[in-house]
Amino acid sequence: MINKFKKIVIKIGSSSIIDEKTGKVKIKWLNSLCKEIELLANENKNIVVVSSGAIALGKKTISNHKVISRLEDKQAAAAIGQIELANCWQQALRKNKINSAQLLLTLDDSEIRRRYLNVRKTISSLHKNKVIPIINENDTVATEEIRYGDNDRLAARVAQMIDADLLIMLSDVDGLYTESPIKNKNAEKIIDINEINESIEKMAGSKHSKLGSGGMATKIWAAKICMDSGCSTVIANGHKINTLSKINNKNSTWFHASKSPSSSRKQWLLNHLHPSGTIIIDNGATKAVFQNKSLLPAGVIKIKGKFNRGDVISVTNIKNKKIGIGVTAYDSYDAIKIMGKNSKDIKHILGYDGRDELIHKDDLVKINL
Ligand code: GLU
Repeated sequence: MINKFKKIVIKIGSSSIIDEKTGKVKIKWLNSLCKEIELLANENKNIVVVSSGAIALGKKTISNHKVISRLEDKQAAAAIGQIELANCWQQALRKNKINSAQLLLTLDDSEIRRRYLNVRKTISSLHKNKVIPIINENDTVATEEIRYGDNDRLAARVAQMIDADLLIMLSDVDGLYTESPIKNKNAEKIIDINEINESIEKMAGSKHSKLGSGGMATKIWAAKICMDSGCSTVIANGHKINTLSKINNKNSTWFHASKSPSSSRKQWLLNHLHPSGTIIIDNGATKAVFQNKSLLPAGVIKIKGKFNRGDVISVTNIKNKKIGIGVTAYDSYDAIKIMGKNSKDIKHILGYDGRDELIHKDDLVKINL
């Protein structure tokens, strides 16, 4: 079922990875999951793991397994648990000949464009090198106002950042039910969701997991963010051995995205009302753009306005007709220095090794003449 997807974020809740009684990582479970991750990676899928569990792991040292309420104690538990968590992931993946990397993110890393672009580039570089990123919130430094607070939100933001086409949420609940299945035995699981409306939101209710921070409401929020970005989401039981291969279209809740990540990104670009600047390009570059190529600095003849790297800018032809809109890889200051120049000279001109393209084709929408 998950085989048709290419870029997959797997979010693992604390209750799936940590044994509630012992407060330790469920090594057998983790080994089976890493074996499945290896199979997916061998099929050239790009996998990102968002793993909870740091606080649940560190708890035994800080509060002798008891619930921690003070933020600084949670942060201390996270600091203790994270090193152990990352170590377990590294060892389990290594058994399957996969290298892993740790990324600890704070809210600003997805909300501030410059930082967001850096995270995106780092993950893409890890994937190029066949390394699997293991992500968690940087709980130790994130104070209440600047936290994601739960990894459901973090995972949705990560999925959005990397243009993932599937987010898998492994949890202690195997999907969305009409009512809480704990309180009402007659509650029914919803299998397919094409739109998140008020009645779906109502079903989410509040949390009932003992270990994690999220609940069904944050999962629905995450699914909504993902659907808007062209990424489908599945909430599935995370307790089983070989949990990924057991996910099918009957035993989990699927939130189906109606468009692809790239078409929703392009739609977002087209809806952008206030581009920060304009670049005017020559006929050769205009032709290349319509042949679905990236826009190189060599074809740029003029730059108007002030913009930062990552801003949305307009592209016009020599007759001043708008032919496209896209995300710039350089700020206006550097773009002026490299316009009309060959990409291989960028390093020499700017003193750093930037991208060859001023606007990459994936970040450019053409407007037909
Ligand atoms: N970042 C937290 C941890 O690793 C988990 C947050 C959550 O449960 O969603 O313990």
